[in-house]
Amino acid sequence: MLFRKTFGLLYVVVALAALPLAALAEKAKVSNRASTPAPQPWKNRVLSADQRADLVLKEMTQDEKLTLVFGYFGTDAPHLNSKRPKESLDFSAGYIYGIPRLGIPAQFQTDAGLGVACQGGAGNLRERTGLPSGLNTAASWDLELAYKSGAMIGSEARASGFNIMLAGGVNLMREPRNGRNFEYAGEDPLLAGHIVGQQIKGVQSNNIISTLKHFALNDQDQGRMVFNAVIDDAAVRMSDLLALQIAGEVGDPGSVMCAYNRVNGLYACEHKELLTGLLKGDWGFKGYVMSDWGAVHSTIPAANSGLDQQSAHTFDKSPYFSWALKEAVNQDWVPQARLDDMVRRILWAMFDKGLFDNPVAEGGAIDFAANAKVTQMGSEQGMVLLKNSKNILPLSKSLKKIAVIGSHADVGVLSGGGSSKVYPIGGMAVKGLQPEYWPGPVIYFPSSPLKAIRAQSPDAEVTYNHGVDVKAAVKLAKESDVVLVFVNQWLGEDFDAQTLSLPDNQDALVAAVAKANPRTVVVLENGGPVLMPWLDKVSGVLEAWYPGTSGGEAIARVLFGEVNPSGHLPATFPASEKQLPRPILDGTTDPKNTDKFDVNYFEGAAVGYKWYELKNLKPLFPFGFGLSYTEFSYSNLTSTVKDGTVQVNFTITNTGSVKGKDVAQIYVSPAKGGWEAPKRLAGWAKVELNPGEAKSVSVTLQEPRVFGMYQSASKTWSISEGDYHIILAQDSADKNASRVTVQLKASTLNVAGKPQK
Ligand code: BGC
Repeated sequence: MLFRKTFGLLYVVVALAALPLAALAEKAKVSNRASTPAPQPWKNRVLSADQRADLVLKEMTQDEKLTLVFGYFGTDAPHLNSKRPKESLDFSAGYIYGIPRLGIPAQFQTDAGLGVACQGGAGNLRERTGLPSGLNTAASWDLELAYKSGAMIGSEARASGFNIMLAGGVNLMREPRNGRNFEYAGEDPLLAGHIVGQQIKGVQSNNIISTLKHFALNDQDQGRMVFNAVIDDAAVRMSDLLALQIAGEVGDPGSVMCAYNRVNGLYACEHKELLTGLLKGDWGFKGYVMSDWGAVHSTIPAANSGLDQQSAHTFDKSPYFSWALKEAVNQDWVPQARLDDMVRRILWAMFDKGLFDNPVAEGGAIDFAANAKVTQMGSEQGMVLLKNSKNILPLSKSLKKIAVIGSHADVGVLSGGGSSKVYPIGGMAVKGLQPEYWPGPVIYFPSSPLKAIRAQSPDAEVTYNHGVDVKAAVKLAKESDVVLVFVNQWLGEDFDAQTLSLPDNQDALVAAVAKANPRTVVVLENGGPVLMPWLDKVSGVLEAWYPGTSGGEAIARVLFGEVNPSGHLPATFPASEKQLPRPILDGTTDPKNTDKFDVNYFEGAAVGYKWYELKNLKPLFPFGFGLSYTEFSYSNLTSTVKDGTVQVNFTITNTGSVKGKDVAQIYVSPAKGGWEAPKRLAGWAKVELNPGEAKSVSVTLQEPRVFGMYQSASKTWSISEGDYHIILAQDSADKNASRVTVQLKASTLNVAGKPQK
């Protein structure tokens, strides 16, 4: 009762407080009608984004400035007593009024990195193309593919009327149980940074803004509103922040979204050191910082710390950047110059990314068939073959009886939950799964693996069993030549997996089926690393992640060898939870701690494979691991240093009998140690080879920060003089890796990783 009362009162305050700005936007339109059009010199495309932002800023009234920094939720939310502005796009993430008088477009925001998402609700939901999960794209190690994927979803966003995509999630996988790992790109800052950077670049190639998120350290969703990430400055600059920094440099996003959690005691959205000192200062970020939905806790501290826009204010306790900000500026508690800077940054990004010159409109044409091919290619390139004993895969087309068991593989493929959910074209393949509401519904894309398998093997008898009745599944397995067991782990936003084990008795299902017929291949549709207690008993394992719109076809093509798998894990798969820095997920045990708890990242920059190597732990599958239907060998490894840059040369030979793509990985390791862990990934090459073919490959290790240690006091990266091993490997734990040694001179990089002048 008390809750309802408080809640009701809160709503009245929110509604009243939010009114003035909506009214202001209306007023702006009216005044537009009344006045004679003034010249608008900022429309001149020859001018720079800086000049254009300055010109328009000068013309803006205080109320117009305040309009740009205040966001609305783009979806009716009865539970929050909130209605979307009528000008917004329904079921969207957000809306910010434009200023028609000055030709400033409204900002239409949509999630997210896997496609044009929908907040859900009743009505005509937007159905769009879904990419495979972010981990899948990262597992491709293919930068061009990441760019194309981003460009494709960005084009759908534009055609749907959106000019801001909340895509670009690159939280490092410190916590394999994090419910949102599937949105991100794994555990290595270099790989994740480049993959997500390319994706952002692709999105923005559509003249819309993409958003780097979640800044920073939102590495678990358990308790995300209250937890406090505790980490040392140097360590975080070499890990989580390095991933964000690289993605920012590569992608050049217009906006950055600050996270829900606290970082070393302060909320990320009112963290001056992070937002103003590091992001805008050290890294020279020229765009604007928007809050995550419900991540603002104040007006004055947030604005003065560097937050530029309050997103979807309904989610916050108060419309902090509405009348309260106006008053704060009136009183000089927030300097006028700060408000001007907030607005200027938003305008700058809108000019720089093309929002003024290329207005969006709803209802653009979308070539769904072509886009389905893009996502299919992505899924195929990122699937990881984890086990293939006695070459059970690729499946022979002459098999007589194939069993397909579990995971609704008769009708579709799974995707992840939360704000990044893309509603599939043609509707959800499975209805009524729990949870039906946030972070659900649980969505299966209607791309049936069963149908695609039947199409691959028209002469075989392919029988489906749902896998719920283990006895029936076992009976079918016994009668079959080969058994394909599909297992899944549904993860999503706002919760974490409480364990790394597959849910719903699926381990028992796999064990029973494999016992009945060892010619069993497991196909995984999962949000992140899982344990595989049945691994020794099955013949094959294919990691298919959440495979997106065309996932069923992609899986069948890989199983039958039309596509030779070439994905490599972008994250370590632990052998048990005991191997993790935090065997028990923080925030799950102490009921007293649910209001605020620390997550102590004592492992510092030793994330993922670095931790395993440092602690001498043998994971289930190491970072970088992935099999192929062929085999590759390396020879002639040499390495040279020119002007401080390391170049690595070697030959890759396809020693098998089918065409395939290899991902040759280069790790570096200082001979005298001194890093957070023995080695770091420094580069890679993805190369396609015909059977018997040999290719000379040359990789330039272009990222000098992977050789350096960050120095907090001087804000520099220092590279020590000495010998460095250059390791050419098939994965991070490759025992047969070859190595050469190079000598580097001592050098210093500035905070942005550029040579110190
Ligand atoms: C998520 C963001 C998302 C936003 C808008 C939040 O819950 O953390 O990633 O962009 O909602 O939907």
